[in-house]
Amino acid sequence: MANHEPVATGDTVRFLGAAGTVTGSKHLLEIDGRRILLDCGLFQGLKALRERNWRKFPFDPASLDAVVLSHAHIDHSGALPLLVREGFRGKIHCTAGTAELLEPMLLDAAHLQEEEARFANKHRTSKHAPALPLYVGKDAERALSRLAPHGYADEFSPAPGVRTIYRRASHILGSATVSLAWGRGGDERRLLFSGDLGRYGRPILRDPDPVEERPDVLLVESTYGDRFHPEHPSRELARIVREAAERRGVIVIPAFAVDRTQELLFVLRDLEERGEIPAIPTYVDSPMAIEVTAIYSRHTEDHDVDMAPGTARGQLAPRNVKMLRTSAESKSLNEMAGPMIVVSASGMATGGRVLHHLARRLPDPTTTVLFAGYQAAGTRGRLLVDGARTLRIFGQQVTVRAHVEKLDGYSAHADQGEILRWLGTFPGAPARTWCVHGEPQAADTLASTIRHRLGWDAAVAEDGATVPIS
Ligand SMILES: [Zn+2]
Repeated sequence: MANHEPVATGDTVRFLGAAGTVTGSKHLLEIDGRRILLDCGLFQGLKALRERNWRKFPFDPASLDAVVLSHAHIDHSGALPLLVREGFRGKIHCTAGTAELLEPMLLDAAHLQEEEARFANKHRTSKHAPALPLYVGKDAERALSRLAPHGYADEFSPAPGVRTIYRRASHILGSATVSLAWGRGGDERRLLFSGDLGRYGRPILRDPDPVEERPDVLLVESTYGDRFHPEHPSRELARIVREAAERRGVIVIPAFAVDRTQELLFVLRDLEERGEIPAIPTYVDSPMAIEVTAIYSRHTEDHDVDMAPGTARGQLAPRNVKMLRTSAESKSLNEMAGPMIVVSASGMATGGRVLHHLARRLPDPTTTVLFAGYQAAGTRGRLLVDGARTLRIFGQQVTVRAHVEKLDGYSAHADQGEILRWLGTFPGAPARTWCVHGEPQAADTLASTIRHRLGWDAAVAEDGATVPIS
């Protein structure tokens, strides 16, 4: 494959995604003549962004020594099947938790791509005939076969002379900051990539690890670089569950299968143990969420003390929980009366089993629909939160008589205060800090806050730019 990029001199990093936006995370390192790709994510959200997934990689995938992943979210890992299909033959480094999560997540991503193409061909909604999936299950399987899992704090070498260490980022299971070092003595250079940075004091996952070495260059995420999260919202969740239980209603919770579902299950059990809510029947109705919950339970290296074995708390299972794997089990809920809780995907009600629960329950005034995550513009979730009185599901207009609640404060991303707290653990100022993974205003605000509060040299990473590491 021809390679038309300019020849870089010296060590550089090139921002190829999640620069000026939050998805498509991809940073190309050229160090000591070696090429390492940090993250290999899909662009998500608006159509103009998603179309970028169809462009050729701006480098030859076969020329990479390795990929080093920060975590399993699709906007950080979802382009791996494409990379392998286009000729990448190296290892994909990740933590043990990330390796396990990637299997259901990449296969699901491929499945969604195939479904989308099938839908486009059936309804002729694409200008391409036939519409093709971005990638298929086989491509995902090939990517999965290249995974190389590592423990936290274990040094590994993605390319000769490059020493790499993962530390906990506390964003989702397996998420890590990536510390790379190369050269020796006075010539040693370090780059630190925050990946997606999580929260302090969250249930299940341990706090972010402190940073032990001063990096020359820091790439820090800025999703909520201009925001502060509200206090932990479990008190509000308890009120909503109690009220719904009193009217013997059904609580439908559209939830992301990865992390949000597990956090909600933990908090519901905790509230039961504290006697703040009754232990009503709770159904987890998403095969992916069930698989991910099992993975979360297995990876004790990520667990905080509140997950210590033998405690009544620390379980990703309310007392009367039932996991529903088959669609027949899912449909059987339609016949059942409340009080009960149904946790189902997708988190923004854009698809998945939650749709049939909404179609069935929204017209019932005893129902509560509870959103515990970000709802993007244009999604059914956002329409409901904004007070829609009817909602289109499966081609039908469904009347909304249910209570609709939105819980703020459940987020897997550090807010500005938490990012600064993590930066406060650094033993010294990086020579240069680049804010990545943020909309322009969030990234700008974080960069100027870092300049003014910490006195560091910080700027916003520009999409496509190549910057030196020196
Ligand atoms: Zn993430």
